[in-house]
Amino acid sequence: MLGETGDSDPPQAAEQASQQNSEGAEGKKTATGTTTTSPGHEGAPPKFVAPSSYLRPLSRETQPETHTQMQMPMRGAQVMGSRPGTRQGGLTGFDREQREGLRAIRAFLKVRTSYDVLPLSYRLIIFDTSLLVKKSLNILLQCGIVSAPLWDSKTSTFAGLLTVSDYINLIQYYWQNPDALGQIDQFKLNSLREIERAIGVNTIETVSIHPLRPLYEACTRMLQARARRIPLVDVDDETQREMVVSLVTQYRILKFVSVNVKETQMLKKPLRDLPIGTYTDLATARMETPVMDVIHQLVKRNISCVPILDKDGTLLNVFEAVDVIVLIKGGDYEKLNLSAGKALELRSDDFPGIYTCTVNDRLDTIFDTIRKSRVHRLVIIDEAKQLKGVLSLSDILEYTLNSPLGDEGEQ
Ligand code: AMP
Repeated sequence: MLGETGDSDPPQAAEQASQQNSEGAEGKKTATGTTTTSPGHEGAPPKFVAPSSYLRPLSRETQPETHTQMQMPMRGAQVMGSRPGTRQGGLTGFDREQREGLRAIRAFLKVRTSYDVLPLSYRLIIFDTSLLVKKSLNILLQCGIVSAPLWDSKTSTFAGLLTVSDYINLIQYYWQNPDALGQIDQFKLNSLREIERAIGVNTIETVSIHPLRPLYEACTRMLQARARRIPLVDVDDETQREMVVSLVTQYRILKFVSVNVKETQMLKKPLRDLPIGTYTDLATARMETPVMDVIHQLVKRNISCVPILDKDGTLLNVFEAVDVIVLIKGGDYEKLNLSAGKALELRSDDFPGIYTCTVNDRLDTIFDTIRKSRVHRLVIIDEAKQLKGVLSLSDILEYTLNSPLGDEGEQ
């Protein structure tokens, strides 16, 4: 294992990043919303965290049906000269503001690079491919991280990014070949790719980007590869060898945007009026569903979370891909026999809770929430906590980068 540590972030850099490959495992920050618990279910008491304190969804009776009628208080920049609800050329003021906001974010991402997202000082943990899988898992847990770039010291090259998906794939392999448990303990990281090929699942992510390329390109590559993070790989001038500089995550980029682009405040159209998020064919489970069935869904659908519902469709909790790590801690696969509810009880006490929103919420306040808290997704519910959809960071990134702006200046 190569290691590099640093803990002297300057204030503004600390705002952007303090720990490079830690998405998901961290989360000690207190969310800004209210937290309520609903006791009486099997499994960990679910914690629900509303997106932000000023994002209080209005009741259905008081909420305007279309954005053309909305008169929300404006914060930050706004398009001058027209009231938000006024139509001009088929577009309302909200449409125009939304478009301006998206355009500003896209322009920002095109002139900033991944280096801009990095703090002056940070730690980076890289695994040598000859490391035992079991040891790598312990190191992730000890360091509170959920992914690590791989390094092949024989060829001195970057060898991909180890993520929770790879451990999930290993679990799949074990499940299909229970007799192989003895061998699994001996597996090294460099054997993972063959195992993944053997069971016909996605292999270790190899996408990477030069840290001086525009952030826009880093985002595009992540979206194309369905990767939630991307390693930054440079070439050393003297040796001409590759070197892994760091990695950036979708969360870190969206947080960087929310800190630096005031036009995020122009994104005032409610989710229900936007082509964003997933609302149909949702993968869900119940508290009593075997956790292995939930894990199979994560793999089959290539998703990072499965909402846990009661029999009436009320959201109780969310099983996240990162929840798998603690299940196989110490190479003990017994916990894979638990129910989803029991598995969720193994979460650490400082688990920040589940972020929820409704279709009446808007991206301006969702960006505010991203700025303040380590959010990885928002589960979309209605006022009765019935599941309506999932809004992941990749959905937000996809919409922000690729939704049509509907004019000739569109890029
Ligand atoms: P993610 O894995 O969170 O990056 O999400 C990838 C895509 O899958 C996004 O479009 C999500 O909206 C969607 N998605 C996430 N979780 C689920 C789920 N449980 N059921 C269906 N789609 C989902």
